[in-house]
Amino acid sequence: MKAVAVKPKTQNSVHLVEMDKPSVSDIKDGRGVLVEVLRVGACGTDREINNGEYGVAPPGFDFLVLGHENLGRVVEVGENVKELRPGDYVVATVRRPGTSIYDTIGEQDFTTDDEYFERGISRLHGYMAEFYSESSDFLVKIPPKIVEIAILLEPLSIIEKGLKQASDIQERLKIWHPKTAAVLGTGSVGLLASMALSLRGYEVHGFGRDKREGYLNAELVEAVGGTYDSTAELTIPDSVKKYGEYDLIFECTGYSPIVFDAMQALNQNGVLILSSVTGGSRTVDAVPADKINQQFVLGNRVMFGTVNANREHFEGGVKDLALCEAMYAGWLGRMLTHKVEGLDNYARVFEILNNAGGFKAIKTYFEVSKI
Ligand SMILES: [Zn+2]
Repeated sequence: MKAVAVKPKTQNSVHLVEMDKPSVSDIKDGRGVLVEVLRVGACGTDREINNGEYGVAPPGFDFLVLGHENLGRVVEVGENVKELRPGDYVVATVRRPGTSIYDTIGEQDFTTDDEYFERGISRLHGYMAEFYSESSDFLVKIPPKIVEIAILLEPLSIIEKGLKQASDIQERLKIWHPKTAAVLGTGSVGLLASMALSLRGYEVHGFGRDKREGYLNAELVEAVGGTYDSTAELTIPDSVKKYGEYDLIFECTGYSPIVFDAMQALNQNGVLILSSVTGGSRTVDAVPADKINQQFVLGNRVMFGTVNANREHFEGGVKDLALCEAMYAGWLGRMLTHKVEGLDNYARVFEILNNAGGFKAIKTYFEVSKI
């Protein structure tokens, strides 16, 4: 079968490989599932791996099959799989257990291991292939009615985890009725965060660099009841004068200096969620350290980082996708801006990823096989 792979740590090494078709018996305890890949999303992570910034090949291989955002159809199940049957639609989770105590209880998204196992990213082949086999434990069933937009489940799982962590942390307050949220960054993660916060009843304020006029992402934030402002016209500190301080801020711009603005835009008892993986070496001058520190202390404010997601967050994401379709029919489909047919056309996918702004791409994905 065909797959799209890179030579890890080598710039622009994306290429097609020919591999053996996997089989249910690859998973030894009878819990194996053979899945036909229907769609695979591509994102900044794939771009950065192809840039040679990170990515690790599985043991015994000198290449890594890319792809972590996935949707597939069950072809065959092992004798101990009762919860799935051929024809079911599934999305697989990404990280697999390592050795820390968190990994042993199914919370590998909280691993303290230095080396971790993520399909399509680190030490395990990904889903940019015609088939994959996996333990049923890591497959989440997709209702047929939302299959068309289910490629968004993996990116949404990251937000589900962040919001779950925020609500777990805020249990310290006994009562917390957050009303307003700011979402910094309105790429695919920011849009899904805006949607998820809107579904939870927040007044949502989205911020991006682009001007509002003619910007699809801005239109989408507004379509779920939010506001959109370009930070070129309204800075985060100025937005507080307009909208008030935020009970929750979700940061997903990829631009770390904005975090210090966000820290100062938080309401009392508010929570700031950081989700950008910023691999650069930026520093910031003139941070009002005393002021920020005092605000955090006197206002019981919280800031935390979040990464990855576990099964529970994927399952929560399925519910939000279904609810979003019920409330804002067609909204998620509008995020799927760039479909590329066939794994052979991987060069096209990376052309779009490398110039997402120019292509006005929100979500780019392969259609590997028809739904
Ligand atoms: Zn991704």
